[in-house]
Amino acid sequence: MAKNELFENIFKHTANNEIEIVTSENCSCIFCRHTYSARLVKDWVSDSKGTNAICPNCGIDAVVGDSSGYTFDKEQLKTVNLYFFPAEVMKKSPRCLATYVNRFKAGKITFNEKNENLFKEYCNTLAGLGDIQAAYDLGFLYDVGSEYTERDAVMALQYYSNPDLVYEPATLVRAGLIYKSGRLLGVSDKKAYESFSKASALGSMEGAIHYFDCYLDGTFVDIDEYFAFVGFSKLWGEAYRRFLMTTGRDVSFLPQISYRIGKMFMDAKGVPQDDFSALKMFLLSEYSFTVLKGDKAFVKPEDAEDYDDLCQRIELISRKYAFAKSDPVFDDDTFFDSFSDAKAADFRILRKCKFIPKHFDPDEGTFVFVTEAASPFLIIDHKSLFCSFVNSPITWSLSSVEDAVFGDADFFDFANGDLETGWAFTRGDASNVVNVATILYRPVEKQQEEPIEEGDGSESLS
Ligand SMILES: [Zn+2]
Repeated sequence: MAKNELFENIFKHTANNEIEIVTSENCSCIFCRHTYSARLVKDWVSDSKGTNAICPNCGIDAVVGDSSGYTFDKEQLKTVNLYFFPAEVMKKSPRCLATYVNRFKAGKITFNEKNENLFKEYCNTLAGLGDIQAAYDLGFLYDVGSEYTERDAVMALQYYSNPDLVYEPATLVRAGLIYKSGRLLGVSDKKAYESFSKASALGSMEGAIHYFDCYLDGTFVDIDEYFAFVGFSKLWGEAYRRFLMTTGRDVSFLPQISYRIGKMFMDAKGVPQDDFSALKMFLLSEYSFTVLKGDKAFVKPEDAEDYDDLCQRIELISRKYAFAKSDPVFDDDTFFDSFSDAKAADFRILRKCKFIPKHFDPDEGTFVFVTEAASPFLIIDHKSLFCSFVNSPITWSLSSVEDAVFGDADFFDFANGDLETGWAFTRGDASNVVNVATILYRPVEKQQEEPIEEGDGSESLS
């Protein structure tokens, strides 16, 4: 095709067009053939030609503003579009395809059937060119489905089976979930277990979660609840630490793991029944799930399912004990909820915290102190159904305190203890532990209600 001078001239206006766009009323995209207000252009990309407007509809820098002197009706746009972007050209331009695909994934392209079909077509082309991310993306779309694409396990597996993808942990997990779901004909428990096991061996936390799930529900292996609980607890420690250290930015798989541990406490699987430990884990799961999804819908259907069940379980427990949502109370229970995890993980970190003693009243048994740190504390108060990061300083009021040993304000990194004995605030490692403060609780009668036995214990004397 001979070069069309007019069209080539139009094309020049898609580059280095910042001033032109901001002084335009409307603009048109010669890639996706949309016309819209120039005020909708919010994104820009810089290349050797200058700063180019990015189309808010399709994500390609192919925007022409009307202040260039060019305006188009639908037919004209189509003609220009086909001149520059005939199907064969698109296939030869992976960069263009990848730009579109990434913009589509980022939700920056109008979500409709036509655009999703383009996404599928481009992913397919890119996958054929050896782009494994595109193969995964397409497999994932068929795996989870959308408004315009029906879930199709066979199609999904076809893309997941790309030889360069089969050793990717994320793909192994997705494939494993398909095998386990029974969406394919025939029983695939063995394949599911093997996929999760491989992903886990490759260091994938998500793979490990589903691997331990197999021991919980007996997928291909004998049920071993204790083994699953120990496994989840170890994973939890790592995920929790990341969450804490990044003040919630790295959610990793904390919601999914906390949910599972909570369920095990609630259902007495692999660990004695304990509603409060369950609730605490559920609150942490709910909070981190909320961080994970933001204001969008869940990307993975299994997360949406877990979340629904999680909310019902929180509801059940809080109704049973008449707990209602409110602000946290910084008392013994909340300190325990937030800083002790003897049952679920071997450690809980408080990095470089300042302990500031305020007032100890031995007669009342009350002790007031302040904790202060550079980053916010993750506070859980199960009685207030509260879990969130809270800025320091925090003033704590403990009760039933028998004794408190402390010096001036000082730094600590660990608070070890429980609600029966008390707390030791320390810093340093095993070879050099520095005690910062010690709080001892009054020895109390067991507060739990003992089950009332009829005919009491007199029989045992006979
Ligand atoms: Zn466009």
